[in-house]
Amino acid sequence: MSTSAEQFVSTEFDYIIAGGGTAGLVLAARLSEDPSVVVGVIEAGDWDPKVDAINVPGLCGTILGNPKYDWAFIRIMATDPTSLTSGKALGGSSMLNLLGINRASAREYDAFETLGNPGWNWNELLKYMKKSEKTLPVPVEDSSKYGLVTPDPQFHGDSGPIVKGYPTWFNPLHLQFLETLEKLGVPKNPESDNGNNLGGVTTFVTVDSSSALRSYSANAYYEPNAGRKNLVILTNSTVTKINFRSGSSPLQAVGVELMNGSQRYNATARKEVILAAGAFQTPQILELSGIGNKDILSKHGIDTLVNLPSDHVYVYSIHEIDPTYETIDDIVEPEVLARQQELYKSRLGYLSTALASLFGFLPAKSFASPEQLSQWKEQALATAEKAPAGLRKQLELQIEWFLNPESVEAELLPFPGFFRGSPLKPEPGARYSSMVSSLMHPLSRGSVHIASADPTAPPAIDPNYFSNPLDLEMLLAILKFTLDKVYKTSPFSDPVRKQVSPSPEECASDETLKEYIKNNCGCVYHPLGSASMLPREDGGVVDPQLKVYGTANVRVVDASVIPMQLSAHTQATVYAIAEKAADIIKGL
Ligand SMILES: Cc1cc2nc3c(=O)[nH]c(=O)nc-3n(C[C@H](O)[C@H](O)[C@H](O)COP(=O)(O)OP(=O)(O)OC[C@H]3O[C@@H](n4cnc5c(N)ncnc54)[C@H](O)[C@@H]3O)c2cc1C
Repeated sequence: MSTSAEQFVSTEFDYIIAGGGTAGLVLAARLSEDPSVVVGVIEAGDWDPKVDAINVPGLCGTILGNPKYDWAFIRIMATDPTSLTSGKALGGSSMLNLLGINRASAREYDAFETLGNPGWNWNELLKYMKKSEKTLPVPVEDSSKYGLVTPDPQFHGDSGPIVKGYPTWFNPLHLQFLETLEKLGVPKNPESDNGNNLGGVTTFVTVDSSSALRSYSANAYYEPNAGRKNLVILTNSTVTKINFRSGSSPLQAVGVELMNGSQRYNATARKEVILAAGAFQTPQILELSGIGNKDILSKHGIDTLVNLPSDHVYVYSIHEIDPTYETIDDIVEPEVLARQQELYKSRLGYLSTALASLFGFLPAKSFASPEQLSQWKEQALATAEKAPAGLRKQLELQIEWFLNPESVEAELLPFPGFFRGSPLKPEPGARYSSMVSSLMHPLSRGSVHIASADPTAPPAIDPNYFSNPLDLEMLLAILKFTLDKVYKTSPFSDPVRKQVSPSPEECASDETLKEYIKNNCGCVYHPLGSASMLPREDGGVVDPQLKVYGTANVRVVDASVIPMQLSAHTQATVYAIAEKAADIIKGL
């Protein structure tokens, strides 16, 4: 049930969860399964179960930048002030994400354990990914037309809260992309959620095709349990810090301070405070609470946290294609929009599903020559040698993966239309094919810290892209593979009329292309590792029980704890982490 701030703080909770986002609501639902346990969730955003831009899959992305639903943090980068999207409402980023749900390789999840986290590995996370999801059957007609296969039940959940299925609308270039990749040595992978994600992949989407609605933590984990008396949700309220019992060592949390409007309140937790405010704001709350690196916190009159956040970095390209191809460019035409709205009533058409559900997951050997690979290896090893011990372990794993022909090092995501992030404008009536080309395991690491002791001030986020110049070299090779191979190999190349972005001038040399990348790169919305689960001496913030070092009863349960960037989009992993965390807390 939802409540007012006054009522909320008059309740004695067992657990207080800061952030009612993707992970926060999984935990809230699981912990409150026991009616004797009282759980309070504090969410900074609102609860809007009826907004089309959230619920209608084909409208996903239209809400980005809207301050009611998106924190839209400005990243610190010299080149441009692009905002970093992060969901702000019940459901958090699962409320506005782009709906793809997939998994990284078994080797990457096993690396959690190798890095010093016993019990965190592929088999264990697979168990919890399955627990979180219900997989819909594949429609026979789509299966024959788009080469989809029935998922292997041993790798997919059948009764969890999050509903996932294959898309119900496919762009005509779907099969052509997969066939071109095959010609370039990247085979189709019909079951990429089994621990081997390499290849041309049609991904599942978090859409319930029986209703053609988004499935996310708010409507899957919270809504069905909203009537529980022992699950209390306070929205439009910001956790400003954790309150500790004075003089306690290790630090004993007794609750949190929160802001509702301009009023401050204290809420009490008998057992634990759990931070689930996402990779940008969980570290903010920790720092505001005095947990972190002294040098940074003393600047703001408080005490900081060692952190290693990172994200995938992408660059886009755009081609104009044969105008007889159906792409979503035509949605601006009123009669097309009306037709799509009509189709949506029968749960069909663009609006019924995610617009991007196709991926090329490539090994480094696809886009780099053997000479480049060995040169990059030497450069990366030199970086690793100079890195602090914890980071060195990660970089050594990354180098091993980079040289492994089974490991996914680049992602190509074809978008059936003009890429909306470009400053250029589409020609009226023209049709486009865009590609988002990303690096999976960047060597650079960014940071997030408080910029002020004021809890309402946004944190200072520095993605620090290309601080290791090898990342730029690798992304350049991935972009060149996209432009010179993928867009020039039939059948994907058949409808191409003209390359729009980068322009011929921007393609003049490697140097001009690097400038293009720097000016047109972005994050793939996967910030993580800002309160990593790693040994303390390796720069970790939480232990394998997700407990913050130096505290008796504060945990972090969200994307912040993922120690390294994965070759996948993050939501499946976050759901699994939260499911596992609930069992850890319950002592199961
Ligand atoms: C635009 C976008 C597109 C994406 N697309 C995909 C995709 O297609 N597939 C995929 O797998 N992943 C995708 N992701 C990534 C994935 O959705 C996230 O990694 C995941 O949802 C993060 O979950 P979380 O629990 O860590 O944080 P969140 O879900 O972001 O939850 C954090 C919550 O805490 C709240 N909060 C923050 N600070 C406070 C505070 N001080 N007090 C109270 N509440 C607070 C926030 O409002 C938010 O609700 C995308 C992400 C974004 C932003």
